[in-house]
Amino acid sequence: MTFERRMHLVVLEYLSRVAGWVCSQCGGPIDPALKHPRNKRASVDHVVPVSRGGMNVLENLALTHLGCNSQKGNEDRGRHWSRWVREN
Ligand SMILES: [Zn+2]
Repeated sequence: MTFERRMHLVVLEYLSRVAGWVCSQCGGPIDPALKHPRNKRASVDHVVPVSRGGMNVLENLALTHLGCNSQKGNEDRGRHWSRWVREN
């Protein structure tokens, strides 16, 4: 197992103890043992995306479904760009 993979599992374990196995985006339950379907798997989300200066620290991480995480990423990018366009 790679160091990154091991760290990912440690972070998942920590987040599940803080908030339970619940998706921070949709509020639905997350099954930690689930491999399929892929979009219902556990994923670590950055509350403030790294692309917007978010840090790789536990305070900025939340548990989500993989599918909810990627949806949020797209919305965030959309909001980010529309704000950027307004401000510039
Ligand atoms: Zn979800």
